[in-house]
Amino acid sequence: MKRILITGGAGFLGSHLSERLLKEGHEVICLDNFYTGRRSNVINLISNPMFEILRHDICFPLYVEVDEIFNLACPASPIHYQFDPVQTTKTSVHGAINVLGLAKRVKAKIFQASTSEVYGDPLVHPQPESYWGNVNPVGFRSCYDEGKRCAETLFFDYYRQHNLRIKVARIFNTYGPHMHPDDGRVVSNFIMQALQGKSLTVYGDGSQTRSFCYVDDLIDGFIKLMGSSDTLTGPVNLGNPDEFTILELAEKVIKLTKSKSRIIRKTLPEDDPTQRQPDIKLAKKALKWKPTVKLEDGLKETITYFRKLINE
Ligand code: NAD
Ligand code: UDP
Repeated sequence: MKRILITGGAGFLGSHLSERLLKEGHEVICLDNFYTGRRSNVINLISNPMFEILRHDICFPLYVEVDEIFNLACPASPIHYQFDPVQTTKTSVHGAINVLGLAKRVKAKIFQASTSEVYGDPLVHPQPESYWGNVNPVGFRSCYDEGKRCAETLFFDYYRQHNLRIKVARIFNTYGPHMHPDDGRVVSNFIMQALQGKSLTVYGDGSQTRSFCYVDDLIDGFIKLMGSSDTLTGPVNLGNPDEFTILELAEKVIKLTKSKSRIIRKTLPEDDPTQRQPDIKLAKKALKWKPTVKLEDGLKETITYFRKLINE
């Protein structure tokens, strides 16, 4: 049994990870400032004596005695991370410094939720971990992309300079229950729009691609990476390599919800990556991990979740 700190623990991924770690018999401290996270995501865990919520902003130092840290705190949806870009960079950079400092003091193993955004609008396809990326340093997405890149740098410098045990995961688009209905990401937007009979908003011509991973698969990857040998620092890509255009996704959502909604076009946001697909050879080999949930099956689960949320 370990005592594990999850920053961003009340968010979409953090709440699933909290549940999984409690099931495995660990004690979980869920830290969150509730910027995009919600208490309702962890409501079923609150009565568990092994679960504790800590309201805190990781831009400020903290001290807790823990064995492991999962650093997930950071808004992940473009509309949320662009709402207060300075705070987004601070969360990634000051946040990393604070959690790495904590890990150093208490000798905890520490995991960073990095992102496929470190590859920017990639010129190499699919993206292996060895690719250094094509990132605009001064655009609207830069607060997130460069913040996450700097956090990776800090993780590797703490590893080299202070012998910290680090694990860096580069997460590709993940979806599932507990996503915020107003999150603004494409899967939640399309499902909410389809269920409410509103038009599905495809940005640009919808030919841009993404590869969607169901949350349960991703959490398996987190657990395997955290439990792997100390020599495996990452970065390791975690995502589902099945690639779809955004238009294909819209059509699938309409079909699965049996919605009468139409598809409308909206302006493509600046610096929106044109294609994205993880190369997961490393995760397959080193972690014996690969996603198993097909997009249609994961979407069905997610639709059921949002349908219930709307009817509550
Ligand atoms: P989310 O927005 O649901 O969760 C982020 C959580 O962090 C929220 O609960 C939020 O309130 C909290 N938070 C934000 N700033 C904070 C701060 N300064 N101090 C404390 N808590 C703070 O997003 P998510 O999808 O669960 O993403 C979790 C992590 O995974 C993020 O770091 C994100 O960058 C990374 N990631 C997610 C995806 C994805 O597809 N879901 C892809 C790539 C990377
Ligand atoms: N997108 C869209 N309609 C929406 C929301 C998003 O067409 O209502 C597109 C967006 O332009 C991007 C893709 O879907 O090309 C994925 O967007 P998301 O915000 O989910 O994540 P990203 O991978 O861009 O960070």
